[in-house]
Amino acid sequence: MICNETNERYVYQCGKYRVDLMANDGAMECECPDWQARRGPALRSGDPAYTRATMCKHGKACLWTFVRELLPKLSAMDGGGL
Ligand SMILES: [Zn+2]
Repeated sequence: MICNETNERYVYQCGKYRVDLMANDGAMECECPDWQARRGPALRSGDPAYTRATMCKHGKACLWTFVRELLPKLSAMDGGGL
C-alpha cells in the first residue's frame, strides 16, 4: 500500500482513496467503501479510534507512513532524545 502526502496537512492519497488523518477529531477518515460502510458508523457508534473496528487498511498504511516521516523529524528537532 503506497501512501503519498498531499498538499493538505495530514491528508494522504492511498491508492485511489484519500485519507484525512485529522478528520473526526483525529480519528481519521477514508473515502473507501469499507470505511464509509463499516468503520465510520462504528466510530460514530462509540468504538475507539485506531482499532480494527474503526480503521481501514488505507488508514493503517497512512498512519505508518505518517509515523515513518514524523519520527526522524521529531528526533532531529530536539537533538535526538525524545
Ligand atoms: Zn480506506
